[in-house]
Amino acid sequence: MAVEQDMLIAVEPVKTHTLQLANTNPLYPDFRTSANSIQIDNTKPLWHNYFLCGFKGIQEHFGLSNLTGMNCLVDGTIPPSSGLSSSSALVCCAGLVTLTVLGMKLSKVELAEICARSERYIGTEGGGMDQSISFLAEEGTAKLIEFSPLRATDVKLPSGAVFVIANSCVEMNKAATAHFNIRVVECRLAAKLLAKYKNLQWDKILKLEEVQSKLGVSLEEMLLVTEDALHSKPYSPEEICRCLEINLEELRTQILSPNTQDVPIFKLYQRAKHVYSEAARVLQFKKICEESPDNMVQLLGDLMNQSHTSCRDLYECSCPELDQLVDICRKFGAQGSRLTGAGWGGCTVSIVPAEKLSSFLANVHEAYYQKNDGSLAPQKQSLFATKPGGGALVFLEA
Ligand code: ADP
Ligand code: MG
Repeated sequence: MAVEQDMLIAVEPVKTHTLQLANTNPLYPDFRTSANSIQIDNTKPLWHNYFLCGFKGIQEHFGLSNLTGMNCLVDGTIPPSSGLSSSSALVCCAGLVTLTVLGMKLSKVELAEICARSERYIGTEGGGMDQSISFLAEEGTAKLIEFSPLRATDVKLPSGAVFVIANSCVEMNKAATAHFNIRVVECRLAAKLLAKYKNLQWDKILKLEEVQSKLGVSLEEMLLVTEDALHSKPYSPEEICRCLEINLEELRTQILSPNTQDVPIFKLYQRAKHVYSEAARVLQFKKICEESPDNMVQLLGDLMNQSHTSCRDLYECSCPELDQLVDICRKFGAQGSRLTGAGWGGCTVSIVPAEKLSSFLANVHEAYYQKNDGSLAPQKQSLFATKPGGGALVFLEA
């Protein structure tokens, strides 16, 4: 679901070919470039590069080489590098602004797909969930997002509970480090080994989901295949090459990303177990919401707790501060709590029974944000209850 925080861009088309960007936050310096020669430097994820991703995505989609310039002022309230997808909010907002200035039209699904692809120019090999919910979100309902083809289905959340976001205040920029892409290539390698084990044509397969759909089996069955095909001991690049009957050069150039060339070990079993079990939990969550049993808040909370354990132990994308924060949230009344977003820092999301909300907020505030002599200065954005918000919008001024 979309949170209520957002990214706003005021835009004015100009007659020259200059793209000029300014930001209300002085941490993000002004930037200008020619709209006809967009360069995205993925070695340094400076803020304007995220804008350029969205801009370039639209430019490429329509095959435009001669773009009109524009002046943009960016203002955002999403805590950056905290797992709430400030990066995708910026990429998607830039894409929508560019589309609007060009006077072109695209469906929300097309926009989401274009922005998911173009955010990868920043260097992270992301999926498409963040960009999808940025466009497809609707106030009052959560969404199950599925791919190939991209679609979003309403999920009605329980009325007796509230979702609360708490920021661990550990920032992690996903494009500045290799953590994120290492997980992507571990999943890609696991998918290829599973496919080879099952005699599928493995070289075209990139995602664990593709192995499941090619085999036509359930997620639970994929967990059993994972048990049979992969071992829990980490794989060296050499062992992977032996399994796939390729050489190191082919592994590096055809499978690994530029920033994962020298990774010494890959934990394929653990990552595949996490992905298939997490996907199963998503479907269980939706089923519980639909069936609405008396103890549904507890059941949903259990799934969120299992999810955090799996993120921590199998996917290894948590950090000590996040583990501490989910413990605090559970201690003060959350039925369940987990990290949200990519991890390694950023936010937790907790499910809290509505009647416990005010004591929960007060206690978590005291236990996490007022510790260490207030060195974790809590901003307004750090701890808040949120309802499913709406997706991207254009405000036109005559
Ligand atoms: P997230 O989990 O928030 O998506 P990322 O590491 O993917 O974190 O991206 C964070 C980056 O997005 C920031 O380092 C910054 O470059 C950019 N960003 C986020 N919010 C803003 C903003 N309000 N203005 C400009 N750039 C922003
Ligand atoms: Mg991001």
